[in-house]
Amino acid sequence: MKKLLLILTLLPSLAFAQELSFKQISPGIHVHHGEHKDIDVGYGGDICNISFVIGKKGIAVIDTGGSPKVGAQVREFIRKVSKLPILYVINTHVHPDHVLGNAAFEADRPIFVGHSDLASFMAQRKESYLNNLSSWVGIPAVGNEVIPPSLTVATTKTIDLGGRSLNLTAYPSAHSSTDMAVFDTKSKTLWTGDLLFIERAPSIDGDIIGWLKVIDQLSEFKTTLTVPGHGAVTADGRTALGNEQRYLSTLLNDVRTAIKDGRGMEETIKTAGQSESGKWVLFDIVNRRNVALIYPKLEWE
Ligand SMILES: [Zn+2]
Repeated sequence: MKKLLLILTLLPSLAFAQELSFKQISPGIHVHHGEHKDIDVGYGGDICNISFVIGKKGIAVIDTGGSPKVGAQVREFIRKVSKLPILYVINTHVHPDHVLGNAAFEADRPIFVGHSDLASFMAQRKESYLNNLSSWVGIPAVGNEVIPPSLTVATTKTIDLGGRSLNLTAYPSAHSSTDMAVFDTKSKTLWTGDLLFIERAPSIDGDIIGWLKVIDQLSEFKTTLTVPGHGAVTADGRTALGNEQRYLSTLLNDVRTAIKDGRGMEETIKTAGQSESGKWVLFDIVNRRNVALIYPKLEWE
């Protein structure tokens, strides 16, 4: 009976425990995995991978989650692990699930880092992201959620955390038009942002042909670990990139064939990429959006 009472008293605190779980994948590298949820269905702000890397001088955060609340939870966790300053907050691309936690780090006065086109895409999308925030996460926007980079990367740049440096590479339009990869030279860990999806269906907001080219470039990295934008960390980044390449090239071929055969977009949405159905989480909803995005562009080829 005493035991039962104890459990009952503990339950409310457990229910409200909101700590994010991180896993140390390599010394000084911690990764949190978000849930595979669509942004329009029960999103909650925690769907992408969030990482932090600790050097001798300080810490870099790689993506901050999809709401200031998730960002604050990330910061809280970091503070439990290390008291070193948070020197850099890196955004791998513009999408709200990866950047809307930025505000939680403002007080640390970090250098915000992103692709050289990130600030303009953030500015274009700020209003819609902030308008959507309350329906996405149940908390209305206050206006400071979208923080643009103060350090931008047009091609490559290196940042130093003390005893470990991160190489940043910006890419032309691929998954989005603001994609940047991060490579830790010490552990040979590669963060791809959403240039690589594992498990979850890859979604396109940039250029499918450009993305296929970038996949080839990412395959050149000699990695021990790869952290995708969504999905599990892998020691076999090449296989994961190969799976994504297979989906994207299947989709590209199917849509091109449909256009050549004179099939309309509505019909193509039902058929293109269908051989990949069952291989990816959230396939139907994401694949439909992908066809709707690439079909009109490919019509002009
Ligand atoms: Zn994402």
